[in-house]
Amino acid sequence: MKHKLLLFSFIILSCGVEESEDNLINNDQFSVSDNSSTENSTANNASSNNSQQSESSTYLGTNCKEVSYSSKPDPDYVNGDYSYYTYGWQSDGTDQNSCVNAYNGVTTFGVDLVNAVLSDAKEKLGQIVPVNTWIFHTQNSDIKTICSDYSPFTDDSSCFDLQQMAAATVTQYVLHNGGEFKLSEIFWSDEEQNGAGYKVAYHEFFHIHQNSHKFYFEETENFGINMTQFRNVDENQGVNLVGPVWLEEGGAEFAGVWYSSLKGWVNYNEYWINYLDEARSVISDAASRVDIVSLRDYETRYSIQRVESSENPTGTSREFAYAYSGGGLAHLYLISKGFTDLNNSMIEYYMNIAELEREHIGEGYIYAFEEYFGMPLDSFYTEFDDFMLKPREEQLSILGLE
Ligand SMILES: [Zn+2]
Repeated sequence: MKHKLLLFSFIILSCGVEESEDNLINNDQFSVSDNSSTENSTANNASSNNSQQSESSTYLGTNCKEVSYSSKPDPDYVNGDYSYYTYGWQSDGTDQNSCVNAYNGVTTFGVDLVNAVLSDAKEKLGQIVPVNTWIFHTQNSDIKTICSDYSPFTDDSSCFDLQQMAAATVTQYVLHNGGEFKLSEIFWSDEEQNGAGYKVAYHEFFHIHQNSHKFYFEETENFGINMTQFRNVDENQGVNLVGPVWLEEGGAEFAGVWYSSLKGWVNYNEYWINYLDEARSVISDAASRVDIVSLRDYETRYSIQRVESSENPTGTSREFAYAYSGGGLAHLYLISKGFTDLNNSMIEYYMNIAELEREHIGEGYIYAFEEYFGMPLDSFYTEFDDFMLKPREEQLSILGLE
């Protein structure tokens, strides 16, 4: 069982948010998406601006495997750097659509697993965009069939390779078509895998939750896209609008384990004890090279690259995935200590991130963290780094895992 947990803690590295985050950690077991998607999307968006303005976009209704819009719609209005949109699926109820698009080789168990997660997650977290799930078998599914269905959902008619992956995204380029996630057989083909497939699917849905709310303004019931800030984040290597990578991945991991454990799909204590040991190992292994681990090192894919590769100043990469293990434990720590709770950390932070980002461009997550996780982010880094150096027994006690 331990072996399987470890295996899955490697596999989750390949899950991705936004465009190229799949690549944020070099995973030598699985390569995930090509790293050209960000550049492609940016270039395509810039070059197609003119043609998009001349052809008008039509709302087609929202159905499984079908795009909602004939092309990218024009904004309702523009204010400063923000373009604001109201989408057809907001008013016809199809923002609640969850589609499981399954292809040859996908088992009934796999389809049922994804359906069970989509349904439970919608109830627990809410859903504000339609979701298409692409579920396939790397050997037995037909790439041509998948790509002919999938590529209309991209802004550049691209597709993806049939390799092992769990990835989820809501992007500024195709927000009008909702959110999506992709899942290959490694996550659902083994029914004896201790529920890990459920947890991974939940983790991916949570990325859709996070990345849909970063655009959404509850008060005006519309979506705002600040392309300038997206470019800044890319160019300045800044923190994603949702927040630091450890918060994005750790939040998804916390949600995956917590909500899956409520359904009896996974063992909560076993997961977190395993993650604690994994995180402690990252720290002690790095310490042997006088490489001091801080959660702060895991804020962006670039900062992670600097410590989890030979770019590390010591010349040796840290053990992988502290953004997931440490990031998940950070949630557990703040909840156990009473600084935050499930509602604030899983819902309110994300509901308010778009608004706080608009008030404090580039720093929305800093304000949201202090408000909904209960302490200033800088103070938290110091406190959590100290916590991670405490004796294991004391950590288990603080985290309520005894
Ligand atoms: Zn993830």
